[in-house]
Amino acid sequence: TQQTTWNAVDAYFSEQLVGHDPVLDAATAAADAAGLPKIAVAPNQGKLLHLLALTQGARRILEVGTLGGYSTIWLARALPADGRLISLELDPGHAEVARGNLARAGLGEVAEVRVGRAADSLAALVEQGEEPFDVVFIDADKPSNPEYFRRALQLTGPGSLIIVDNVVRGGAIADAASTDPAVVATRAMHELIAAEPRVTATSVQTVGSKGYDGFTLVRVQS
Ligand code: SAM
Repeated sequence: TQQTTWNAVDAYFSEQLVGHDPVLDAATAAADAAGLPKIAVAPNQGKLLHLLALTQGARRILEVGTLGGYSTIWLARALPADGRLISLELDPGHAEVARGNLARAGLGEVAEVRVGRAADSLAALVEQGEEPFDVVFIDADKPSNPEYFRRALQLTGPGSLIIVDNVVRGGAIADAASTDPAVVATRAMHELIAAEPRVTATSVQTVGSKGYDGFTLVRVQS
């Protein structure tokens, strides 16, 4: 089947270019042991996040949707020693697993997990006049994507990069008649992005071990 091929190709790329990584393997094992859903990004996708953050020269990273901290580790590893990552997570159990994983990865000082509704945590960050983030990775409850994008714009500046995961919705993103809240919201987010003069963006479809999906990249220009 197609999925078998996609798995084999992802395994090949990850074997060649990601390699064996005891810290990430331990993070995945801890998440599995705690019964977390297996919905973290794939290794080669995590490395893409890492490369994007490196390319940005990121000093400050914001993540929406922590789960067990797998993508968090990839992103935080791109930071300099005095860098900072804040990851927002609703579920206290997920946050606890993530904190353990970040500590074991030696990232406990640079990466912080904040528990609560991301909408509230983002509002608080804006309220506190937080310095702009160089990279924002949005990967939480999909119906909130328009709100997360709006908040991300308030929390970034010229040159920042906003990444949104899982924007293809099995192809339903192209269906204007869809009533699926994740589809409706992700379409609304695309309309916001399209109408926003301060950004330039693209969305890309992907296949791989996580199936058929895709992501949006948004660069804040001004
Ligand atoms: N970024 C993670 C990774 O790749 O390793 C995966 C994140 S998982 C797809 C989505 C996470 O968002 C879950 O842990 C879920 O508990 C969290 N979440 C769901 N609704 C949320 C909300 N309203 N605020 C904050 N986090 C939320």
